[in-house]
This record gives sequence, structure tokens and C-alpha cells, in this order.
Amino acid sequence: MGLFSFFKKRDKAELPPLRFHNTLSGNLDVFEPLSRSQVSMYNCGPTVYDEQHIGNLKAYIFADTLRRVLNLWGYKVRQVINITDVGHLVSDADEGEDKMEASAKKQGLRAQDIAERVTDLFFKDLDQVGIDRSKIQFPRATKFIAEQIALVKALWEKGYAYQIDDGIYFDTAKFKEYGKLGHIDLEHLKEGARVEENMQKKSPHDFALWKFSKKGEKRQQEWKSPWGKGFPGWHIECTAMIFKLLGKQIDIHTGGIDHIPVHHNNEIAQAEAITGKQYVRYWMHGAFITIEGKKISKSLGNTVYLRNIIDRGYSARALRYLFLTAHYRTPMNFTWEAMEGASQALSRLSRTFLELPQGGSVPEQFKKELYAALSNDLDTPSAIARVWEFTKDTTVSPAGKRAGILLADRVLGLGLSDARPSATIKVVEKSDLPEEVQTLMEEREAARKAKEFEKADELRKKIEGAGYEIKDLPERSEVVKK
Ligand code: AMP
Ligand code: ZN
Repeated sequence: MGLFSFFKKRDKAELPPLRFHNTLSGNLDVFEPLSRSQVSMYNCGPTVYDEQHIGNLKAYIFADTLRRVLNLWGYKVRQVINITDVGHLVSDADEGEDKMEASAKKQGLRAQDIAERVTDLFFKDLDQVGIDRSKIQFPRATKFIAEQIALVKALWEKGYAYQIDDGIYFDTAKFKEYGKLGHIDLEHLKEGARVEENMQKKSPHDFALWKFSKKGEKRQQEWKSPWGKGFPGWHIECTAMIFKLLGKQIDIHTGGIDHIPVHHNNEIAQAEAITGKQYVRYWMHGAFITIEGKKISKSLGNTVYLRNIIDRGYSARALRYLFLTAHYRTPMNFTWEAMEGASQALSRLSRTFLELPQGGSVPEQFKKELYAALSNDLDTPSAIARVWEFTKDTTVSPAGKRAGILLADRVLGLGLSDARPSATIKVVEKSDLPEEVQTLMEEREAARKAKEFEKADELRKKIEGAGYEIKDLPERSEVVKK
């Protein structure tokens, strides 16, 4: 046995069993993947008709943290995040227009171009919050049309599908366990259904597998199928890509809690109707965030994007820190005060880390407590609290602290190992600044303190126009020459 494998083995023995809250069982289940060394994981991805907001980003930060934990526990992870570029209707339950087509019509653009632009923005956001895209597959729904048609055909042949005027539907009455995920009260769901119900459907829960293009209407995105020209339903896309890229049975499937009642129950129904075996072993769902106490909504105009966070001088990693201070299943209310607090905390942690010398090893006690928090359904708030106590522990050597913080950061993804001492930033002394820039800086500081962020943003642009760049630190802002 080589030295490396010896250590690897020893390390693994110290790791407690992972427990995750499984929406399917409703319990905290011990995680036992299908294969000993490899985990397959699928995360429902963005519908790329419009830019993803920070609520959406929270879903991927959760998935990434989960991936990092699995890696730390020694598993290789095959991870897929789909890009929905067709078929997601305005209502998740097959009513209304296709979000992509509607957005294209409104903007007078090609759906494909919108999808590409939004996907690029999405990728940039992922990079900034510390998600390593090179390890993830990002299939696009429009590139898997043949696979989706093949699944609809299989369901048709097995007697699970029927045709009505506007498409091919899944017959939920034929799948006895329909609604098992999250123990959905189907009667209640029916009552809550929208008024414009499709009266031809055998049951309000039946969902579209394939929708026909409307007669006389030319869609931008449509394909031929054995039943007629049209496009795939949203739910079938995830199953088709999972079957193709990860297999007929996978370990973990994640999404936001909004996906439990309809989308994920539909995925289970169509997949298990085809294979006759369990589709996903562990279903994990992240809670929603609200913004300043309100649901994120375009019409309320309260949507916050990552670029807004950056514009206000905060780092993407500070947003990640903020999200990780709440458990992934606890709803969180985003406020700018909380963002400020997270930014200050992360700067403090970063500075503490940078002052510590290299060459230590992680104290066993800290390792044990960190692992205990993470194995307990990914308890990141406890892990962060433990890191803070650890930094203040006078019985631990400075080098040991550095090693411990780095270990925690392998999972938290706060980018501490990339943090550089601020000495490498060429800070311009105030007295060396042109008077005009000095005044702008002071005005901007005052605006920031008064929380007049728009004004502060305008002043930042002016300062940048004069050839200087601002680094916002928790207690003050510094200027560097561009
Ligand atoms: P969508 O692009 O709407 O399909 O959503 C992408 C992901 O973001 C899904 O996993 C959603 O469940 C999740 N999501 C949407 N809104 C929020 C929110 N306010 N907070 C947390 N997650 C959200
Ligand atoms: Zn999905």
C-alpha cells in the first residue's frame, strides 16, 4: 500500500456517515450511493428566457456545496445541470405560453439568441460564486429532442400516454404512486389549480409530454414527431437527459421546493413508468429566499441579480457566505444589511487567514466537529460558527488554524486559499489623489453610509472615469490606480 492510499484510507475512516434530508422519505437518511466510490447528481437548472436572480443562484450554491461535501467524503461526483431552452410554460403545469417563445416575441429576438446570452450570464455568475464549471455537464434541452421523443414513444407504447387536441399527455391515474414525493395532497392541489384548466385532460394532474404547435402559428422552436409538429413538455427534458447522461437510476436530484408538487412528481411518474424501478434515491430541495421580506417578483421590481451585489461593492463570495449562514432548508430573507454583515464577516475571516503561517496540520478536534456539522444534512451555519470559534481558540497553533480554515473552505468555497494579502493591491494614499477624486470618494462614502446606493454607484463610475478603481473593504473604501 502506497503512503498516499494509506492516508486516504485513514482519512475516510474518520468521516462520519453522511445524512441528508430526503424529500422522498421525509426523513434524515444515511447516504448510501449506488456505487461505492461515485455519486450521480442532477440539479434542475435555469430556464434561460431571462437572467437568473440571486434566489436561483442559491439553488446552485447549495448543489455545489453538496458536491464539495461528497468530494471531501472521497466520492467522485458526476454532476449535470440542465439548461432549459424550450418547453417551460409560464405555469409549471402546462398552461400558458412557452417562456422562451414569449420572451423572444416580447423582445423581438430569436429564442436561441436569448438562450445563449442568458446562459453566458449564468455561467459567469457560477464562476464568480466559486462553482467549478469544468466538472459539470450543462446539457441544453433543445439538443436532446430525439431522446425526449423516444421517451414519449416508450410511454405511449406502455399505455401511459394519451392524445388530446393540444398534445400528448401522461395519464397520472395509471401511475399508482403519483404524488408520492412530499406526500402531495392531490385533492388540495386540484382545488388550487388555475381557472383555465384544460378540460380535455382526463385528470387535472395529467401533464404534457409533447405539445403541438398551434394551427396556423409558426413557432421559432418546433420539431417533427410521430404525433405532429411541436415541442417537448418541460418535465420530460430532465428525465431524458438524466437517462442519457447519468443512467436510469441516480443517487441525488436537487431543486428548489417549488419543484416538489408538480415538476419532480411528474419526473418520477414518467421515469418509473418506463423503467419500473426507483428513479432517484435521494431528493433534496432548497428553501426559497425572499428579498426584503417579499417574494422575488418581476412585477414587484424587487429582483436582485449578482451584478447588483457587485455594483454595490460586495463580492460574489460574500453572497455565498451569506447563503451558507442559513441552512439550505431554512427560508432566508435577503436584506442589504445582511449582505453588509456577511461582507464584513468574510473580510474579517480573510484577513485572519492571511496572517496565519503555513505548515500546520488540522487539529483532530476541529476536523471532528466540522465533519459532524457537514454530515448532519449539510449544516453549513454550524460549520461556519465552528470556524469562528476555532479562529479564536488560543490552544490551537497559528499554522494549525490556517490548515483548519483551509479544510473548511474546501467545502464552503469562500475562496480563502486565493485570498492575497492586501499589500499586493497598490493602494493610492488619499493625499496622492487628485483633489477632484478625493471629493468624489468622500461623497461616495457618505452616500454608502446613508444607503443611497444608486448615488454611490454613479459616483463610483465617475471615479472610474478618472482612471481609478475602488476596492470596498468592510470599514472603508480604498482607491487603486487602474
Ligand atoms: P428556474 O430558472 O425558474 O427554473 O429556477 C432555477 C432554480 O432556482 C430552481 O431550482 C428553482 O427552484 C430555484 N429558485 C427559483 N426562485 C428561487 C428563490 N426565490 N429562492 C431560492 N431558489 C429559487
Ligand atoms: Zn427539472
